[in-house]
Formats: sequence, structure tokens, C-alpha cells
Amino acid sequence: MDLYEHQARGLFEEHGILVPRAEVTASPKEAREIARRLGGRVVVKAQVKTGGRGKAGGVKLAADPVAAELTARRIIGMDIKGHTVREVMLAQPVDIESEFYVSYVLDRAAGRFLAIASAEGGMEIEEMAATRPEAVARIHIDPAEGVTSAKASEIAQAAGLPPQTVDVLVRLWQVLTREDAVLVEVNPLVRTAQGQILALDGKVTLDDNARFRQARWGEEDAGHDDPLEVAAAAKGLNYVKLDGEVGIIGNGAGLVMSTLDVVAGCGARPANFLDIGGGASAQIMADGLSVILSDPDVKSVFVNVFGGITACDAVADGIVQALGAVRLTKPLVVRLDGNNAVRGRAILDGHAHPLVQQATTMDGAARRAAQLANTS
Ligand code: GDP
Ligand code: MN
Repeated sequence: MDLYEHQARGLFEEHGILVPRAEVTASPKEAREIARRLGGRVVVKAQVKTGGRGKAGGVKLAADPVAAELTARRIIGMDIKGHTVREVMLAQPVDIESEFYVSYVLDRAAGRFLAIASAEGGMEIEEMAATRPEAVARIHIDPAEGVTSAKASEIAQAAGLPPQTVDVLVRLWQVLTREDAVLVEVNPLVRTAQGQILALDGKVTLDDNARFRQARWGEEDAGHDDPLEVAAAAKGLNYVKLDGEVGIIGNGAGLVMSTLDVVAGCGARPANFLDIGGGASAQIMADGLSVILSDPDVKSVFVNVFGGITACDAVADGIVQALGAVRLTKPLVVRLDGNNAVRGRAILDGHAHPLVQQATTMDGAARRAAQLANTS
């Protein structure tokens, strides 16, 4: 999970790395108040989980509080590489003398962390690595040893960073390890005209496997921008929103993937990926249906289950109970096959819901669901 710049900034601050004074808001009016508190002149920065905001017009200097409000009004709502700006951070401008680049990133292949640093910060590192590779230092870090002062000096020297950055490099390593991050990046890290070292921008990616012990980052920030994905994640569902019209529920990631393909092969587009896994309880079925039915693009729903350890009659019971809990508003095509398929189909037939129809094959069910989506 990626953090917003202002969240990364907060972590840097907690670990003793200097950052400009700054506040976040979603309201242009409040931006004016914040600018006044910060001394009038401010940098207005779009808060989106993508880089290159500066180039895209998402980082602007405002000369006074009125300009800050106007600038915030212009930036909020802006689209930056597919991310809608909902909030801006207003920061005290910094008098930059030089800009550096520093990051730590997990190098899975090497089983190590990698420090990447350069005395020529500001521009994107990918670009720099391509055009001036000699200006970029890459030094591996043994995770058991970490970044000691000696290691930090080695990194600073290799990259040509001033000695004052050594302390920041050590603290940045503490951010990485204590916050369970797999990436921390500061671009630019700057030296001010007064000789202070400040982190002017920050990117932090947390290790999703450590989320259970990083409770302060709520579900709403799980990296999902789509509200349906947020709702699904809150219910613990393995759901991905797609662009089509046929809602899909299946058991097992492989089956769901091939269901998407078969639906696409029938001339319709899948509206989502949803794997209810092995259990397929009534609760999961109801939760999954309610998320899919609340997607306005969905015209039909295809439930594709291959009964294994969880037999089809249990799944059919789950569907019937779910239909008691969720009001079905769109046609549902169910294909049950595998363990106890006959009993499962009989349960659904007995329930005789007017919007539910069954098909015995995956192809037949996909065709039917596609047809229903294309004609409604
Ligand atoms: P990014 O484009 O998404 O990486 O956003 P940054 O936060 O890195 O901002 C882009 C550029 O704006 C930086 O590389 C700086 O050169 C410049 N910038 C950001 N904040 C300040 C500031 O406080 N003072 C000055 N002079 N420049 C700034
Ligand atoms: Mn940057």
C-alpha cells in the first residue's frame, strides 16, 4: 500500500527528519486560512498516489493566501495520471540550494535492500538512471545489519551527497524498518540556503503482509480508489472492479479468471473479478452479491461454482440465504457443477426465484449472462 505524500511526510517527521511545515485540506477556502497561518507564501501540492505531480501541474507556488485558495481550487479535482486530486497539501516554501535523490527499496531478487542515491535530485530517477547512470549510486544493504552511520557514510560518499545527509540516511532506514515499508523515497531531499537538510517530497510503500501490525492505516487507504473496491475490502472480499457489464462470482482464482475470459469470448465484458474462495458461505455470497448489484454498470450476474470440498448444495443454500438478505435487482445466471451439483441445482429450482436461471455448462451460462447484459 502506497501512502500519500503528507502521510510519508508525517512519518519522516516522527523519525526526526526535517520537513517543511505543512497542512492538508480538501477545501480551497481552508487553503487560504492555512496559507495565512504558514506565512502567506506557500507551495500547493496535489495529494495523489503517483509521481510526476510537478510536471502535471499539481505543484504550484502561491504568493499569498488569496492565490493559495485559487490555486487549490484549480488543483483539487484535477486528474493526474488517472488519479483524481481530492486534497492538497500546503507547505512553507523552501529556499533550495541543491536537490538530491535518496531511496531504499526491497530488492527481492538479491534478498537485500538497495539504497539508490544521487546528488542530482529533482528529476525522475528512471530518467536519470537512463541518461546519467554514473550519477546514480546503488548500494546493497544487508537487512540484518541495516543502515549504520558507517553504511550511511558509504552511501553518501558514493553518491556525492554532503556529510549532513548521513544522519537523514540513518533515520530514513528507521522509517523503512519500523514502519514495515518496502520502499521509502525522498525526491528531492534538499539542502537549503541555510545549510539544513529537508525532505521536500516523500513516497512510502508499506508491506501489505505487515498490515495486521500497522493498524493506523485504515481500510479506506488500502490503495483502492474505487468505492466498490473499498466496500469489498471492508468485507474481506477478493474483489477487483473492471469496466464491463457482467458481474462475476466464482470460487477459486483460476476459475474466476477463466470465467472472465469465457464471458469476454461471448461478446460481453466482465464487470469485476470476485473470488469467494473455498468456503462460499451465505454471508460471503450475500456480501459479494450486494457489492456487485450496487455497481450501476452491472446488467447481469454470473455465479460460476465448481463444487469441491464445499459441495454445490452448500453453495446453493448460500445463494438462497443470500437472496433473502439482498434484494436481487438484476438477472442471475448460476452454473453449478462438481460435487453434489444435482442436489445444488434442485435447491435453486425449488426456490424458483424469477430472476434466477440455471445453466449446466460454463459456456452456456456465460452465453446467457452475456445475452442478458447485452439486451437489457
Ligand atoms: P513530484 O513532481 O510529484 O515529484 O512532486 P515534488 O514534491 O517532488 O515537487 C516537484 C518539484 O517542485 C520539486 O522537485 C521541487 O523542485 C519543487 N518544489 C517542491 N516544493 C518546493 C519548495 O518548497 N520550494 C521550492 N523552491 N521548490 C519546491
Ligand atoms: Mn518528487
